[in-house]
Amino acid sequence: MGKSILALCGGVGGAKLVQGLGKTLRPGNLFVFVNTGDDFHHLGLPVSPDLDTVMYTLAGVADQAKGWGIAGETWHFMEMISRFDDLSWFNSGDKDLATHLYRARAAREGLRLDEITRSLSRSFGIEHNIIPMSNDPVRTLVVTDRGTLAFQDYFVRLNCSPRVKAIKFAGCDKARVPGSFTDLLNENKPDAIIIAPSNPLLSIAPILSLKDVRSALQSASVPIVAVSPIISGKALKGPTAKIMEQMDMPVNNVSIAEFYRDFLDGLVIDNKDEHETGEIEKLGIRVKTTGTLMNSIRDRIALAETTIRFADSLSA
Ligand code: GDP
Ligand code: CA
Repeated sequence: MGKSILALCGGVGGAKLVQGLGKTLRPGNLFVFVNTGDDFHHLGLPVSPDLDTVMYTLAGVADQAKGWGIAGETWHFMEMISRFDDLSWFNSGDKDLATHLYRARAAREGLRLDEITRSLSRSFGIEHNIIPMSNDPVRTLVVTDRGTLAFQDYFVRLNCSPRVKAIKFAGCDKARVPGSFTDLLNENKPDAIIIAPSNPLLSIAPILSLKDVRSALQSASVPIVAVSPIISGKALKGPTAKIMEQMDMPVNNVSIAEFYRDFLDGLVIDNKDEHETGEIEKLGIRVKTTGTLMNSIRDRIALAETTIRFADSLSA
């Protein structure tokens, strides 16, 4: 397709659709704007989990079975360092570690995160554009019944077991979008904006917390369409459903529509959830039902094409 698309994305769930979009669109016509709220330092190295997931997935080297990291990894480094200290709560394979080491060195040499991301992507032969939501640090903090936790402490070390009371994005009031979000829209002129089926509260909300993003979305002249991460009242993976419950959001597509209501034109939901159509359309949001489960690459391309066509139909 000759279209150009801007996608908002977190990690594993969002990256599946992004891979489909990447294969559907001509090289260079996809702009993926990625959450960096999960970024942290591990072993002194800067780690950007969602940027790396999107990059490895677009490069076709992601570990599909595990859902994170690189396929065919080896773990010699982790084995060795585990002798010295218990750092095994966050695993990084030998190849993945090279990404973090390169990022650390490039940052020390003064490169910004968007420049580093571009350089890493190009090394993988990725012709589409992966853009971190900010070069400034934004850190997701999870307020729980066990205190306020850094995102990776909650997500990886404690395996999402504490009860979530609130989610904060430290630094979001000062952080700026590289360039500006409005310029990103004006310069690249996407035909549509697609919100990937990422966790709305943990992956998309940090992006929306940045100063000019929400207002730019509200006044965007192109259709904005989201793909729901919920099928039949469940999230496919990870804590999305659990956190929605804990935050008093019913686990369904209506909640997803309500969450994005102030800028969303259309929502793609699974065929199984067709009965929710009426209630979502009452919010002034159009609905497209299709298969939204993305196991194979063919599923991903099919969903990407359907979503682009749906967005297209809304711009008429
Ligand atoms: P993370 O940053 O790695 O946690 O990943 P994301 O936030 O990007 O994605 C997590 C969400 O992806 C979860 O809410 C899942 O329900 C959703 N997800 C995972 N696989 C699929 C899929 O095949 N189809 C749809 N529609 N959603 C998916
Ligand atoms: Ca993530």
